[in-house]
Amino acid sequence: MKTIELIVPCYNEEKCISKFYDRVREVFSDMPECTFIITFVDDGSNDNTMDEIKKVEKRADAGKIQYISLSRNFGKESAMYAGLEKSVGDYVAILDADLQHPPELIKDMLDAIENEGYDCASARRVSRKGEPLIKSTLSRAFYHVINHITVIDLVPGSTDYRLMKRKVVEAIVSMAERERFTKGIYAWVGFKNKWVEYTPSKRIAGNTKWSIRGLFRYAYSGFLAFATTPLRIVIYFGMFIVFVAIGYAIYTFLGALHSTGERTGYASIIIIMLFLGGVIITILGMIGEYMARIYMEVKNRPIYFERESNIPDKKE
Ligand code: UDP
Ligand code: MG
Repeated sequence: MKTIELIVPCYNEEKCISKFYDRVREVFSDMPECTFIITFVDDGSNDNTMDEIKKVEKRADAGKIQYISLSRNFGKESAMYAGLEKSVGDYVAILDADLQHPPELIKDMLDAIENEGYDCASARRVSRKGEPLIKSTLSRAFYHVINHITVIDLVPGSTDYRLMKRKVVEAIVSMAERERFTKGIYAWVGFKNKWVEYTPSKRIAGNTKWSIRGLFRYAYSGFLAFATTPLRIVIYFGMFIVFVAIGYAIYTFLGALHSTGERTGYASIIIIMLFLGGVIITILGMIGEYMARIYMEVKNRPIYFERESNIPDKKE
């Protein structure tokens, strides 16, 4: 029998925990071919989330509920990592505690993995109804820009909600970078992924933890984690200014040959300023690119992941 482990990051979700468990139990009651474990990751909540988790643990069969409580609020990304690192299930899913990620989708996801040959299946929102206009507009802009300037391809409406095989989990855990951007990491590790579409429902209780400011910070860290193109733009901009300076110098020189007017020295100052400014910007961009490469190296990402192979593992 396959075990499906559900990793649930929780930050101040006291009102959701018990409802979440009931809903999951209901979903799995008509999936007799597998069992589930729920791993709650309490991300330093300052309400009664931990008590609620323990209550649910008592209510459930032994071993069904696991929990990790982090020493403070580290953010959802870190909470998800903690859960993945400790996960034991044959298949692992990550979903929110507020039931905005319907647990029913796991059936479709499991079907895709077991019968259609996929390694993982991810949920994709098809409607952003009920979300503030500003949030959905910003989000659309974010995907547009990030897909143009980074090496990875992000799908609009993609969420952190996905079910995956062990080897995908291991690949994600082996991306040991500190500054984590899960959507980008999902895209980076590759593997065969099926998109399962759903319409998000309202949060069952409590409030969203995302402020507009928080979302901006999230988007920014996404850019920094995967983007190097902006630095290229800086270099081109610097070079462009250098060319403008040279062009202007030639123009002034030719003009000076034909005119007999007084020399003010004004043009030479502009030319020198433009030229030096352009050179400095170009060099800054180049230094930036070196730093970006160092940053990528420091992350120490694996060079590749294996999907399948018939070469036995080397023994020491
Ligand atoms: N969350 C977390 N740590 C945080 C913020 C959020 O573990 O610092 C969890 C939260 O408890 C929820 C999930 O991440 O289970 C998604 O958060 P939320 O519902 O607030 O985001 P939204 O659905 O509004 O994007
Ligand atoms: Mg939510």
